[in-house]
Amino acid sequence: MSDGHTHHHPTPPSEAELRTKAIESLLIEKGLLSSDVIDRIIQYYEQDVGPLYGARVVARAWTDPAYKQRLLTDATAAIEELGYVGNHMRVVENTPQVHNVVVCTLCSCYPWAVLGLPPSWYKSFEYRSRMVLEPRAVLREMGLDLPDDVEIRVWDSSAELRYLVLPERPAGTEGWSEEELARLVTRDAMIGVAKVQVPAPVAGGETP
Ligand code: FE
Repeated sequence: MSDGHTHHHPTPPSEAELRTKAIESLLIEKGLLSSDVIDRIIQYYEQDVGPLYGARVVARAWTDPAYKQRLLTDATAAIEELGYVGNHMRVVENTPQVHNVVVCTLCSCYPWAVLGLPPSWYKSFEYRSRMVLEPRAVLREMGLDLPDDVEIRVWDSSAELRYLVLPERPAGTEGWSEEELARLVTRDAMIGVAKVQVPAPVAGGETP
């Protein structure tokens, strides 16, 4: 297990949600923000950002070793280099020996600036509690069966520090462009519940 378990939340989640709602209502009431604007902001993080920004960060790290170094040293600044601002970040790198996975044990802290909005399972009590206690079993249930000799590190995201997994670049992608690589990188791989896969070639027939 890792040292990634400190979690500082100024308020319990339900209260934080209430506060958000209250502030939202107040802003609308004062005419500072219309509900249309809020809907557009939500749409922006749901559809426009999606996990695409994170995928671009990963693809850059795969193709530019100096960028990768900066990303692992100061993720917030390196992510800002690509124009994505909004979260204090740390990036953790998967290797053949170490697999990283991200959870928020208390609520749903998530790097929305690069991944958009979290999937619903990320917010579920089951994921939040079990990923810490039995990550290997949970990952297996989610379709990622890791060999026993791979160390699993679980990182607890908080409002102050959010984690992004730098997945392993899949074999067979030598010479691919940054843009082609970015298309392979999924949200789940950047949370750490999946690996990045190269789709099987159509000519090769269907693999179950
Ligand atoms: Fe949280």
